[in-house]
Amino acid sequence: MGRALRGLKGWAACLVLMLVLAGCGQGTVPSTEPEAPKKLSVYTSLYPYQFFAEQIGGGRVEVHNLVPPGAEPHEFEPTPKDVVKLDEADVFVYNGAGFERWIDQVLKAIDTSDMVIVKATEHVNLLSSPGEDGHSGKPHGAAGERPNVDGAGAHGNKAKAEPGHTDERGNGPYDPHVWLDPVRAKDIARAIRDAFVRVDPEGKATYDENYRKLAEELDRLHAEYEAAVKQAPRKEIIVSHSAFGYLADRYGLKQIAISGLSPSDEPSQKELQEILALAKAHHAKYILFETLVSNKVAEVVRGEIGAEALTLNPLEGLSKEDVAKGKDYFTVMRENLAVLKKALGVEA
Ligand SMILES: [Zn+2]
Repeated sequence: MGRALRGLKGWAACLVLMLVLAGCGQGTVPSTEPEAPKKLSVYTSLYPYQFFAEQIGGGRVEVHNLVPPGAEPHEFEPTPKDVVKLDEADVFVYNGAGFERWIDQVLKAIDTSDMVIVKATEHVNLLSSPGEDGHSGKPHGAAGERPNVDGAGAHGNKAKAEPGHTDERGNGPYDPHVWLDPVRAKDIARAIRDAFVRVDPEGKATYDENYRKLAEELDRLHAEYEAAVKQAPRKEIIVSHSAFGYLADRYGLKQIAISGLSPSDEPSQKELQEILALAKAHHAKYILFETLVSNKVAEVVRGEIGAEALTLNPLEGLSKEDVAKGKDYFTVMRENLAVLKKALGVEA
């Protein structure tokens, strides 16, 4: 068989395939129906950014959070199916500062040439990592770096994150929990708006107006936190997860974290002793756990030191129950504020 003929045969096969594909397409998409305007496909890696994107994008966007409700975002790894879907995104919002351990690999695997990527931590001042984060006892940052433990004095450590500063676990030298400060959250929301305008300039008026409303609500939240902390006789909180460094920094609180406590498990006997010793040393009346602790733990805390166990939500995701109850970023932040007021001794 000659070369030319072989080439022709290949071309003919191609044409047949194209006709078959075209035929399929005609069967599924009736050409008479008017085409619905295509929504922007937005992917996020963290619940607060999903919420901001939904608020700003309104009906013009379709937002998918990679981490499903109830999943622990630090343990999360996208599936190959997730990566294929992400490849189609118009806008992708992720946190950075070592929060997504899988990010470099995934960004290498997908075609990002026609995608606008928002790295949230690039748009705010970062604080040094408080060291132990409480995620399965794995530190987010370098060992020995615990600037926030000494109170709100982390101002001197502000710096922009630099790429390539994460260790083999993906943990960087910066505290990743930026979304818990309403002021920084506003900067991130603005970056999300700008990304939407870049991809969909026709929607600019909608995005601007929706962002304005969201920013106003974030301002209100900030004012509520500020007013509450101003009245507080105590400025110290003991937390089971050092996720509140940015909140502490913003409002002049001192976060004292119980190190090495995994968020999902019940504390071991040794960990419980550590919690009790820390609470005693600080004359704490309250200990703020990341999730609802069992009655057993709460009773030990109460019985041994007369302290109460409360829940302060780091908003790394919503549980299925939270979603069913209609909770969102603002309702959880205000629940947290109520808990904080109690822990700081603010009169209701
Ligand atoms: Zn965390």
